[in-house]
Amino acid sequence: MTPLTIRLCGPRGFCAGVDRAIQIVVLALKRYGAPVYVRHEIVHNRYVVEGLEARGAVFVEELDEIPAEHREQPVVFSAHGVPKSVPADAESRNLFYLDATCPLVSKVHKQAMRHERLGRHVVLIGHAGHPEVIGTMGQLPEGAVSLVETVEDAERYQPADPDNLGYVTQTTLSVQDTADVIAKLRERFPNLTAPSADSICYATTNRQESVSAAAPGCDLFIIVGAPNSSNSRRLVEVAKRAGAKEAILVQRAAELDFDAIGPIRTLGISAGASAPEVVVNEIIEAFRARFDTTIELAETTVENEHFLVNRQLRDVELTVE
Ligand code: SF4
Repeated sequence: MTPLTIRLCGPRGFCAGVDRAIQIVVLALKRYGAPVYVRHEIVHNRYVVEGLEARGAVFVEELDEIPAEHREQPVVFSAHGVPKSVPADAESRNLFYLDATCPLVSKVHKQAMRHERLGRHVVLIGHAGHPEVIGTMGQLPEGAVSLVETVEDAERYQPADPDNLGYVTQTTLSVQDTADVIAKLRERFPNLTAPSADSICYATTNRQESVSAAAPGCDLFIIVGAPNSSNSRRLVEVAKRAGAKEAILVQRAAELDFDAIGPIRTLGISAGASAPEVVVNEIIEAFRARFDTTIELAETTVENEHFLVNRQLRDVELTVE
């Protein structure tokens, strides 16, 4: 068999926010029984969603999909966060909700609200249509937030009051691209105020750093993740930019086309924050079956973050198997 070195990135895969969101659904099922409704994919990963569906979770896009006879059952809001109108809507429908918004997304919401309280117009750097962006924009009244996606947008942006701007960003952006957008905004609006802490979260930063370190010399880089996972897509870009000859997003080992992959000697592997380790292992096994593999751990830091679940579920956590 052809020898293959696999550079396995660390940290990779689940972050503390994703882990917490999944736990909230599992614990809610345990405490309240099925069905537990979940508004939007709890995290952007089909494997995770299907696993929760098998346990009794029911995924809906909007609250009006919850049947009247199930109003007593909880509905969980996803890790990406929701506009303020969503909990308000849940209350008006007498629904019992559990908010699984990642605490680091909630922190960005608070920073945006702080800018607004201090009289600044908020510039949100992020990707249009992403649930996190919809949620952050929905913390403030219509018109209080302007979305800037790229350096070109930053060049074109014409605020009403250029001296009174504060920015926040989506948590899962490319660190480098975001720095470029902020630099362009600063060049044009020197009084632009930064948030009190970086909005890009520790998990995004750590996964990008590890992929950057491992990518040089890789013939192929596989990022385990879903096409609608923002942080996973950014990892593909980071791998290419850092020197991998090719980088691809893969959801399951069954998608791998070994004829197209061709002869490779060095393979990088990482996983987005919503991708479970079981899929990483499945992909490693698929290569082991075809190559004489050696695994090198490309670990740039060790993560110890852990976020507590909602108060209503903490005692269930103690008894979870
Ligand atoms: Fe929270 Fe970051 Fe994970 Fe998003 S990627 S859920 S912000 S820890």
